[in-house]
Amino acid sequence: MKSCGVSLTTAAVAFGDEAKKMAAGKASRESEEESLSLTVEEREALGGMDSRLFGFVRLHEDGARTKTLLGKAVHCYESLILKAEGKVDSDFFCQLGHFNLLLEDYSKALSAYQRYYSLQADYWKNASFLYGLGLVYFYYNAFHWAIKAFQDVLYVDPSFCRAKEIHLRLGLMFKVNTDYKSSLKHFQLALIDCNPCTLSSAEIQFHIAHLYETQRKYHSAKEAYEQLLQMENLPAQVKATVLQQLGWMHHNMDLVGDNATKESFAIQYLQKSLEADPNSGQSWYFLGRCYSSIGKVQDAFISYRQSIDKSEASADTWCSIGVLYQQQNQPMDALQAYICAVQLDHGHAAAWMDLGTLYESCNQPQDAIKCYLNAARSKRCSNTSTLAARIKFLQNGSDSWNGGQSLSHHPVQQVYSLCLTPQKLQHLEQLRANRDNLNPAQKHQLEQLESQFVLMQQMRHKEVARGLHKSQSSCLSGPNEEQPLFSTGSAQYHQATSTGIKKSNEHLTLPSNSVPQRDADSHLSSHTATSGGQQGIIFTKESKSSKNRSLVPETSRHTGDTSNGCADVKGLTNHVHQLIADAVSSPNHGDSPDLLIADNPQLSALLIGKANDNVGTGTCDKVNSIHVAVHTKTDHSVASSPSSAISTATPSPKSTEQTSINSVTSLNSPHGGLHTVNGEGLENSQSSTKVDLPLVSHRSTSQIIPSMSVSICPSSTEVLKACRNLGKNGLSSSCILLDKCPPPRPPTSPYPPLPKDKLNPPTPSIYLENKRDAFFPPLHQFCTNPKNPVTVIRGLAGALKLDLGLFSTKTLVEANNEHIVEVRTQLLQPADENWDPTGTKKIWRCESNRSHTTIAKYAQYQASSFQESLREENEKRTQHKDHSDNESTSSENSGRRRKGPFKTIKFGTNIDLSDNKKWKLQLHELTKLPAFARVVSAGNLLSHVGHTILGMNTVQLYMKVPGSRTPGHQENNNFCSVNINIGPGDCEWFVVPEDYWGVLNDFCEKNNLNFLMSSWWPNLEDLYEANVPVYRFIQRPGDLVWINAGTVHWVQAVGWCNNIAWNVGPLTACQYKLAVERYEWNKLKSVKSPVPMVHLSWNMARNIKVSDPKLFEMIKYCLLKILKQCQTLREALVAAGKEIIWHGRTNDEPAHYCSICEVEVFNLLFVTNESNTQKTYIVHCQDCARKTSRSLENFVVLEQYKMEDLIQVYDQFTLALSLSSSS
Ligand SMILES: [Zn+2]
Repeated sequence: MKSCGVSLTTAAVAFGDEAKKMAAGKASRESEEESLSLTVEEREALGGMDSRLFGFVRLHEDGARTKTLLGKAVHCYESLILKAEGKVDSDFFCQLGHFNLLLEDYSKALSAYQRYYSLQADYWKNASFLYGLGLVYFYYNAFHWAIKAFQDVLYVDPSFCRAKEIHLRLGLMFKVNTDYKSSLKHFQLALIDCNPCTLSSAEIQFHIAHLYETQRKYHSAKEAYEQLLQMENLPAQVKATVLQQLGWMHHNMDLVGDNATKESFAIQYLQKSLEADPNSGQSWYFLGRCYSSIGKVQDAFISYRQSIDKSEASADTWCSIGVLYQQQNQPMDALQAYICAVQLDHGHAAAWMDLGTLYESCNQPQDAIKCYLNAARSKRCSNTSTLAARIKFLQNGSDSWNGGQSLSHHPVQQVYSLCLTPQKLQHLEQLRANRDNLNPAQKHQLEQLESQFVLMQQMRHKEVARGLHKSQSSCLSGPNEEQPLFSTGSAQYHQATSTGIKKSNEHLTLPSNSVPQRDADSHLSSHTATSGGQQGIIFTKESKSSKNRSLVPETSRHTGDTSNGCADVKGLTNHVHQLIADAVSSPNHGDSPDLLIADNPQLSALLIGKANDNVGTGTCDKVNSIHVAVHTKTDHSVASSPSSAISTATPSPKSTEQTSINSVTSLNSPHGGLHTVNGEGLENSQSSTKVDLPLVSHRSTSQIIPSMSVSICPSSTEVLKACRNLGKNGLSSSCILLDKCPPPRPPTSPYPPLPKDKLNPPTPSIYLENKRDAFFPPLHQFCTNPKNPVTVIRGLAGALKLDLGLFSTKTLVEANNEHIVEVRTQLLQPADENWDPTGTKKIWRCESNRSHTTIAKYAQYQASSFQESLREENEKRTQHKDHSDNESTSSENSGRRRKGPFKTIKFGTNIDLSDNKKWKLQLHELTKLPAFARVVSAGNLLSHVGHTILGMNTVQLYMKVPGSRTPGHQENNNFCSVNINIGPGDCEWFVVPEDYWGVLNDFCEKNNLNFLMSSWWPNLEDLYEANVPVYRFIQRPGDLVWINAGTVHWVQAVGWCNNIAWNVGPLTACQYKLAVERYEWNKLKSVKSPVPMVHLSWNMARNIKVSDPKLFEMIKYCLLKILKQCQTLREALVAAGKEIIWHGRTNDEPAHYCSICEVEVFNLLFVTNESNTQKTYIVHCQDCARKTSRSLENFVVLEQYKMEDLIQVYDQFTLALSLSSSS
């Protein structure tokens, strides 16, 4: 049992005593007390229960007794706490939190956990508390906090028994947050773990496959899905979902052959999916779409109808039905179908678009404009600009346009970055519980919180919806929807299909309950009301032979609008198509990341029919799942129970939902991630209050490096004697600093904030005139002084007579023209700004595609880009003689005018110059640099690693055209870096001091970016607002930029130029401290540390005389921790009878990393028997080894150092007398 189990027992015992005392004191109420106390057996049973059982206890049927017991325990604890006026041991609250969690009473669990948190300073040592807290946050969709809590668990206890569940949930949350790299890593970590968790490995594999699909890696996705189908005993639901994904992917993507082939594949997959799950409305819907796209109208209608029968009215289905009618020249029917669609989903951009085109075709521009406006307002509409142009065109062209006419407004909520703090959630729950006894102020508060909560939920939905429909192309169900990416030719395509359509005469009659009546605020909605309303809609399919069918009479009858005549229905489509096609082909991707999984990350949700809506819509798909995201409420689906998350997603649950709910329960995971409030009046809630959060505002704990007073440096014998008595279970944490150190936290913003006029500080610069200047010792000290985040050494190349020509493109081509170049394809952005690809708003995300080429080819590109610009320049000059200064105009316009579309450029990056044979002259030239800036030197920590870390202790080259961008980052493990501009053009640098990295990290999180892994370009306005100082300067050819330890920076090329760069680790306390801090932070974030700090620390102890006492103590302290860990682990293994095999080390053998989780593994390597026999030596850390083989029976343990050797190194590492006065 873990700590918490123990503490529970004591708490329970204490409680028993306490209760007895009280009972004795109040004899009159003795019997009552009696009934409130727990028996010994009950206490024992409860002793084993904490958050780790979540998802594994049954509370129904045979678990009813457990439920009763938990209920009783909660009751007892609560009454005791009440009597003691809250003055009880903090463990009581923790335990109460666990019990409530197991009972799925999340708000009470949260409240109890928060009491514990506030009382228990070292709460972070309690893994089951952190785990319980994470689960509660997860339930409330507070992913930001759930991620933190879960990461803390793994940090303080990497061998936590629910590590698998944590990885699974982290994977899901990162998927929702579009942090796909992290998501994949966690799914894989979950998959290798043979412990139980709430999803089967088939389901986890499904998520991985779907993750590929989400990232548009369709071939990998297809492969992964197909692999899943091979799996034995694949559950039917998973099978159905996999087949559905495959079908829909084939429909949308060119994965195989021509159009006919891919549609036939798609149809086959979908039919098989329906065999596995005949009740999936979604699959029927997809099937309809496939039939429709190959002109099988009859089959399409039948499928759509099945879809509606199976899954209730879906806006997508109705929209597609509308399309089908429109293609058949049945505009009235199309109209009705579209109206159904927008009634079901007011934000259905595609349906509004289609409706607009329909009206336009009937020469009713006002109505068309209204529809387009509604489409444009939809959060899922990403081509608003094209729409706006269209609207403008119509407005200008339409004489009858009445500007004063008021449009019907669809409630399109502002995007509030809403988030309720757990405190507020808890408060809300309390207020709700006491709804009847509130004073007016509290009532008001409740109302406000309710509306905030609702907005929060809605925003989540919308975010998801936006993600699901990454661009208009994906949500447009317009007539051209059938074209995969709507590029060209959709108009012709449409004509081709529509002429081939056979008219059907059947009546498609819908059951009366299939169209939930809503209060529609669009005038259009009145259509449905009159033409059928709840009574059911009958699609009259009169044969329409005439091309020029007048819509007017009917339309005006329904809407009461003045009609403007009729149109050639057929004729309409063309220009409309053009419009849509244009809209769609504009580069829209990128800014709205494809959120794939729904906001209900509910693991289980995913595999159920309905869950497809959440999950199953790859980026490729167009329509599915819209309704999930949008129907935060409907008249029917009021989420009264937590498990109704799924039913909230769709109006009036039917069979499919039923199954889905069942499977949720069967997975026994916390039901619905969406805790939905009763649906009434949501849309009217106006609260736009921005909630200021930090919930459990984590204390600024973690001085990772112990303060100097801590550092007693005992001799190794004492240490080892002490640790002989430590735990036997195979100590797992490899935190190199303290036995248990608190999880690292980013620094909060420095206080007091800098005044605004200090936010553009001058950049520390040094001008060199000659070689002596360059070798003047204070230069080194200036650069490494922590007060200077960056130093520009001007004129360095000249002073040292460096031959920069060796790095010119011409020389590089001559030297190694076939050498490989990594290429980043980027958008040419206005100077120092970063816009979304459509140029609508400034964003932080700046993802770029990666590819590879050769130096010769990039050189060609670089040269031709230069020539082209010369030509353009000349043309401009001849056209407008006086037009010159476009730099100033571009900045003047910033923020006002729309940007874009942006030209794409290619940036040749990370070119590896490590090979001494290939780059002999170049590398030799760099030895002319002063020692502190050299690639290799005795004073450079990276020269003591003993092996190559590409790009860090070797040189990298960058080949640039104007606008090439290196996104924001700190160097690996916070090392210093050296960068020399070769020229001929300049580079512009942006630099933020190290102590602000926490602020930038926050900005990244707010923008759904991973500070460590994603590509981001800070918005300077955001930084200014947040009082973050930014150094900004131009690096000219021959200038060396020294980036100090931990400095955040980002760079863009002003002209055509090459740069060379590498890292340096000065032997300073500051550098070592920051490197170790980042090492720990990386561990918390599951990111690999390129610098193996443990390995390096031992090498330093062996090779370096350290005279700085601060640095010395830090190194010594780290060595001590590692020594202790080695010893403890070793003894535990031996005690468990595990043989340790001597393996030793070769010279220059690189440090080892776990092949699974990528933490550094030092000294004791866990290698599978198989890998050992094959001598491939694939290394695992102990925790990962135990995940696949609990008692390590499949592993051998290889030892690389003798304990005596390590002990000797430790003891012999002493503070050297300072020889120079410099430090
Ligand atoms: Zn590992």
